[in-house]
Amino acid sequence: MKFNTRLLHGRAVKRYADGSTLPQIAQANAFQYDSAEELDRVFHHRAPGYAYSRVANPTVAAFEQRINEMDGGSGAVACSSGMAAITLTLLNFLRSGDELIVSGGLYGGSIALFESLAKFGIAVKYVRCMTQEEIGALISGRTRAIFGEVLSNPSLEIMNIREVADLAHRNGLPFIVDATTVTPYLVNPIVWGADIVVHSTTKYITGSGDAIGGAIIDGGRFDWDFDKFRGLEAYRNFGKAAYAVKLRTETLENMGSCMAPMTAFLNVIGLETLGLRMERICGNAKALAEALNEIPELHVNYPLLTGNPCGELALKQLNGQGGGVLTFRAGSRENAYRIINGLKYAVRATSIGDTRTLVIHPESTLYIRSTREQREIAGVFDDTVRVSVGIEDAGDLIDDFIGAIRG
Ligand code: PLP
Repeated sequence: MKFNTRLLHGRAVKRYADGSTLPQIAQANAFQYDSAEELDRVFHHRAPGYAYSRVANPTVAAFEQRINEMDGGSGAVACSSGMAAITLTLLNFLRSGDELIVSGGLYGGSIALFESLAKFGIAVKYVRCMTQEEIGALISGRTRAIFGEVLSNPSLEIMNIREVADLAHRNGLPFIVDATTVTPYLVNPIVWGADIVVHSTTKYITGSGDAIGGAIIDGGRFDWDFDKFRGLEAYRNFGKAAYAVKLRTETLENMGSCMAPMTAFLNVIGLETLGLRMERICGNAKALAEALNEIPELHVNYPLLTGNPCGELALKQLNGQGGGVLTFRAGSRENAYRIINGLKYAVRATSIGDTRTLVIHPESTLYIRSTREQREIAGVFDDTVRVSVGIEDAGDLIDDFIGAIRG
């Protein structure tokens, strides 16, 4: 089965209650049983069933099974936001004293999270580029994981997943990737060697800007050394499944950042059209990037533009696609604001991955908590404009931007 068929007819797509083609929205916090013994068995995981929606819920499970299949994982956990997904992923195994190596050009919220983690004794070291040389130079006896975005938002650098995974595994480290901007449509990071994938489903997966959510997909292949990864020691008996078991039964349950059933339902619907939307969005983004690149006063960043250093990786690893986000430098903050304000169709709003095109000035919004150096590594300057391209007709979008630029 190819991508779009698998979204609709894959193993994870069930015939739900009463023949429904979509899962019912199980909008309940608790599930009732006929006897105390049955509840006892469900609580002890000795019988299948749901007990409490903070831990598991049928609608949420339907989405988890579908995203897990599309990413080729061994199991998935859905949570309340992309930030919750990253937080749970890391707190599931890291302890005070551990170190993490991450790419510098990350989403500003992730950088802010790492600063919060530092206050709990989890140190974060940044590399400018996710190369074996730069990462290798920072690995120490305390390093416990490598983390990066496959196609970083908004610096738009593409990492070589296989090379970083090889380095991580040679050093006994799990490799965790945020695949929000690529989605399973552009790449399955687990196939290329990543161990754990996180998504902000808020973006392309729900796809219509209608819900905040996140997902964690465990590849289930990483060989945890329980003497080194002490946070997983109590789950030693589960072997390679230790990470997933702890994530569901301890970390998600205790931290409480579960996905709401209604959000899971919106994610199921969104996922079904992911392929169609991504194909259209990536085509539009390339067309808009090429049109803007003709304007000499702008400096446009998009992986598929001639001369972009990430072009080769986009061809090899992302199925020849460059994603749905582009940025350009307008020459000055005033000019950036003028262009943003002059747009008719593109909506001035934060976020990415919506059906409509969204435009923002990241320096004065998303990166207000970052240092100048962090901003520069992320490709954010006072004249940078970020565009999350939508599914409008490409010609209308191009006309809208050209009109705003020409004033
Ligand atoms: N990861 C990336 C790459 C993002 O772009 C974002 C949000 O923009 C997040 C994570 C956080 O997602 P959420 O807003 O769903 O918490």
